[in-house]
Amino acid sequence: MELSLTTPIQYIPRVGPVMAAKLKKLGVETVEDILWYVPFRYDDYSLKSPISRVQAGETVTIRGTVERMTNAFTKTGKKLQQAKVTDASGTIDVVWFNQPFLAQTIHKGDNVNLSGKVEWFGNKVVMQSPEYELVEDNHAVSLHTGRLVPIYPETEGLSSKWLRGRVHFVIKECIHKVFEYIPNSIRNKYGLIEIQKAIEYIHFPIDKNSAKDALRRLSFDELFLTLLQAHEQKRLWQTTQHAHPISLARGPLANIVQTLPFSLTGDQQKALTEILDDLAKPIPMNRLLEGDVGSGKTVVAAIAMYVAYKNGFRSVCMAPTQILAEQHFATIKKMLDPMGIDIGLVTGNKKMNQAPVLIGTHALLHQSFNNVGLVVIDEQHRFGVKQRMQLTKGNGNKTPHLLTMTATPIPRTVARAIYGNLDLSILETMPSGRKKVKTWVVPKEKRKNAYEWITKKLQETGGQAFIICPLIEDSETLSSVKAVKSEYARLQKVFPKLSIGLLHGRLKPKGKTAVLERFQTGKDAILLSTPVVEVGIDIPNAVIMLIEGAERFGLSQLHQLRGRVGRGRIASFCLLFTESDDPTTTKRLKALETIHSGPKLAEVDLSLRGPGELFGTRQHGLPLFKVASFSDTLLLAQTQEAIRLLTSESPDLAQFPQLRERVKKGIIMRTGD
Ligand code: ADP
Ligand code: MG
Repeated sequence: MELSLTTPIQYIPRVGPVMAAKLKKLGVETVEDILWYVPFRYDDYSLKSPISRVQAGETVTIRGTVERMTNAFTKTGKKLQQAKVTDASGTIDVVWFNQPFLAQTIHKGDNVNLSGKVEWFGNKVVMQSPEYELVEDNHAVSLHTGRLVPIYPETEGLSSKWLRGRVHFVIKECIHKVFEYIPNSIRNKYGLIEIQKAIEYIHFPIDKNSAKDALRRLSFDELFLTLLQAHEQKRLWQTTQHAHPISLARGPLANIVQTLPFSLTGDQQKALTEILDDLAKPIPMNRLLEGDVGSGKTVVAAIAMYVAYKNGFRSVCMAPTQILAEQHFATIKKMLDPMGIDIGLVTGNKKMNQAPVLIGTHALLHQSFNNVGLVVIDEQHRFGVKQRMQLTKGNGNKTPHLLTMTATPIPRTVARAIYGNLDLSILETMPSGRKKVKTWVVPKEKRKNAYEWITKKLQETGGQAFIICPLIEDSETLSSVKAVKSEYARLQKVFPKLSIGLLHGRLKPKGKTAVLERFQTGKDAILLSTPVVEVGIDIPNAVIMLIEGAERFGLSQLHQLRGRVGRGRIASFCLLFTESDDPTTTKRLKALETIHSGPKLAEVDLSLRGPGELFGTRQHGLPLFKVASFSDTLLLAQTQEAIRLLTSESPDLAQFPQLRERVKKGIIMRTGD
């Protein structure tokens, strides 16, 4: 059978249905998939040595003839495999532990390559548990020894060794069928090797440099294709979608801005101008407004809603949780009520509401509205693409303008890259008058003092405190809830004179609202919570944020939690508790003592923990690259430049059909997660 890139993997020799099912778990279903199944590291067995020259402590590869191969037992009764191997220079003993089948694989007289560590064993230098490879033909390539050996993410019953053989077979048979899709001009400009070579070398590099070249090419491709896809989405949006232009003269606009009890920050003004420019176009806006909690995003959104209203259009604002929806409702109502605008709140199963400004949760998706001119989505990554589409589904042939908001602090360079399909406005400065939240990492032995200090502070100022317990697992499970419940019992004794509320994700919406209301109205002095309060809630009287198990959070998350305090007039404090003694953990947490900007902290986290950890384990909707890294800012800049070059020549990539095809197919890197 002639193999093609789309041939199901089961049909390549030595795979079959059983192994194919295991490969499927790793995301490998076709011949092409296995080519893109990249190793996550290499074992370096490239140092080859004559047997007489090997030294204890080295990791080397030797080639020789097996003189003896036996099963034996150690003094403690464990199974042991012993071999004696000889080459022209000398002889060495080899041992394996508890692999009796080896005696059936390796026989006296065989020529073998052995790669592994050489150690003292008793008074002899012995090679221990090496990788082995039978040498049937002196010219055959070695896959498992004598080179940089690829190590893949494995699954049960499927080893790197087995994968190597299959990958090698597919490369031999099919690599010539992989087409180059990056134009030569770009490859030359950025020194990228050909795709066929890159695939070959990512699996079987001839040396460290070729492995590096391969990784660079594939990282470039991953960023490049991701960004190009976003670029194509943006182009399609702009060329196929139509919107009602919406605008407002300076006078009526000033009306609403002047009713605010504060003046807009420079960043808010800039964002507002960008939004107003977008709204005035017949192409629907598709803009992301990024800013820390409390930076004033909702206020900006409310002004845009006002403009829509003045143009006779309805605005719909969707938030991911009931708490947030209610809070937006309050903020926006405060602004639009005085202008005589009716505002509706849509959560749960409330009946139809047809107010010109509607705030709600995903319950909004179950109703249909006409005449929508502006859709605002908060924390858009919490919603699926389908849900977002549903809200922006046009009225007739018009699409509403779309403003999405996020408090997830992403470094500007990264945001520009991954949100390439959106225009971006960032609120970097907080409204003036906002005080920095004084932050301490509290040493274990000071816990008791800290509690006493909190009691005193709350009694003196009449302020309130949040105490956050981390999630025990990735999502809010029963055991997480149990953890806050037992902490709740404990804190009753720690703060006997203060009333404490308990909030967690397993409460019914009504229960949550009731708990929050008690805190909002000051009935409870302390709110103990899982990180469900993370996004958005606004309690100006809260002055202390205490976070337990701080090491479990990313810096960005901690910063977001900290943003829950410092919103009122009095000084606020953030206390980070950790049970970890690890100095790097302490160092990481201490960054919060001195850095008070979300995007900056995101950068620190990026450099200290890597992109995988940047936003914690929470669902964040960011593409996590398989081989590329957000922290490679040079490569990121190069891919962006490459995209500008190509799309200025051919906006729809029609001149680059191979590339166009690849962008359509999407990214095909596989790494087994
Ligand atoms: P976000 O949506 O980014 O969390 P909000 O728009 O809800 O922020 O604003 C948070 C709080 O700050 C609100 O109480 C709001 O009235 C207030 N606020 C917003 N902008 C300003 C400003 N420029 N100056 C002072 N206070 C502001
Ligand atoms: Mg808000």
